[in-house]
Amino acid sequence: MDRLTQQQRTAVLATASAVGASVIAYTLYKSLSRSSSSSRPRKAAKGYSPKPLPPGCFDAVIVGAGPSGGTAAYYLAKVGAQVALLDKEHFPRDKYCGDAVCTPAIKILEEMGVLDELRQNNECHFADCGGFVSPSGLSYIGTSQHKLGEAAACAVKRTHLDERISRCAARTGADFKEGFEVTSTTFDKQAGLWKVTSAKGEEVSGRVLVIADGATSRLATKLGYCTEPAKGICSRAFIEGGTHNADFDGVCFYQRESLPGYSAIFRHANDELNFCYYLIPCGKDDMCGNVKESDLKRLHENALKSDPFISKAVGPNAKVERMRAAALRLGGQGLKTTYDDHLLIIGDAAGHIDPLTGEGIHTAMMGGKAAAETILDMRADGDFSKAAAKCYEQRWMKYYGHDFYLSKKGAELIWRYPILLDACANEMQRKGDAMMAMWAEIMTNIRPKTYFLRPDVACQLGFAVVREFWNQKIMRRPDQYTPPAAPAA
Ligand SMILES: Cc1cc2nc3c(=O)[nH]c(=O)nc-3n(C[C@H](O)[C@H](O)[C@H](O)COP(=O)(O)OP(=O)(O)OC[C@H]3O[C@@H](n4cnc5c(N)ncnc54)[C@H](O)[C@@H]3O)c2cc1C
Repeated sequence: MDRLTQQQRTAVLATASAVGASVIAYTLYKSLSRSSSSSRPRKAAKGYSPKPLPPGCFDAVIVGAGPSGGTAAYYLAKVGAQVALLDKEHFPRDKYCGDAVCTPAIKILEEMGVLDELRQNNECHFADCGGFVSPSGLSYIGTSQHKLGEAAACAVKRTHLDERISRCAARTGADFKEGFEVTSTTFDKQAGLWKVTSAKGEEVSGRVLVIADGATSRLATKLGYCTEPAKGICSRAFIEGGTHNADFDGVCFYQRESLPGYSAIFRHANDELNFCYYLIPCGKDDMCGNVKESDLKRLHENALKSDPFISKAVGPNAKVERMRAAALRLGGQGLKTTYDDHLLIIGDAAGHIDPLTGEGIHTAMMGGKAAAETILDMRADGDFSKAAAKCYEQRWMKYYGHDFYLSKKGAELIWRYPILLDACANEMQRKGDAMMAMWAEIMTNIRPKTYFLRPDVACQLGFAVVREFWNQKIMRRPDQYTPPAAPAA
């Protein structure tokens, strides 16, 4: 009887905390909603003497033809601006990635006409059947398209995506120079022009330098804008189509050991799978929760071999590619600013990857579009000063940057309290696809993370936490991730 009273007391306390959390969440939601809507782009400052563009020079020189650089080039070229798009590689080229393209990027691809090309060539696969597995092994796999009216993400191989975007920019009028590895840049303040030189000694000059050279950004580092190496990392391995057992389009697996990181499987149009393991910086310096960058290989291989959910989906006969890995620069890490006189930094070079999900294709493309809009304003005003360039930061903050703070806090929360993810999975099991669709919308930037703080959503999740607390701590529900005990000898 005494023990029951104690349990009841715990449950009452947990309920009170859930209600309290909802009230705090409401206050936060209101204040964050206000602050994000007040960051409107300002008109560029005047008073900067406009100079005609010298012959052979470009309005913008973009270094890097990934999704950020390619998108910026397209939107500049579309209205007749002179733009050079430079990349050290020859396209098509591979880029290590999970290949999950979220809705905001799908919308931009549609606007560019690239989505039709991808569809016609069977290079994109819209994810319908998907879900996630929580740290205690609660899983939900459902369908979200019928609830959302559209897929929250699609899978496109980066060899296809980046080539189609950059060729589209070139068709629209951008001068796309492949095999152009930028090794030095100099700024002539008098003339207001950047000179960019390649490893082979070729030169290109332009009014605005756009740095889009990816997460390790040699250029932003060399020019002093980026002061730290990227702290996150992610692995990738393709699994040959027809050799695996996966019957879903996309699932995230939140293994307890590596929270707030996770692993994910995405299916391509040709039935190939993309398996990735994201390690997200969190907690002490140089740590990704309780693990380090050096743990990635072990985690990646163990997940494929021993994770009960992943090994079942992959199956015993799967042909799995060797693990590859690349850096993740999340939430603006290592940069104090993304603009200066005649200069903008976009995409991974600016650290524009969501610090909760590790996804950055959509932010790279939205940032590329924001950069193009800003350069066009600067060009119209003849003002390329730092004050005019500031509009770029106001734009990206409005489009997606306002979410970074809550994403970072979200990552910290799930690292400290994995039960929060268990509660979400539990709620999905109860509410089905409606809850799954809401989760997908928030995780893919269709809705801002502040949506989690809406009183109705926060209350629903608060009660789910209480229920999960009851199941785990009081009813002692076994952890689905715990390997079964070895039989007695
Ligand atoms: C393993 C992994 C998995 C990921 N999974 C996902 C996912 O599923 N979904 C998602 O949305 N995001 C994902 N991301 C993040 C995503 O890949 C990036 O956010 C995105 O590629 C950023 O685009 P970008 O154009 O800024 O940079 P990049 O795509 O890195 O492009 C940079 C370009 O610059 C060029 N370059 C570099 N240096 C020079 C130079 N000196 N001169 C000329 N050119 C140069 C490079 O060749 C490259 O083409 C993942 C990242 C990793 C590492």
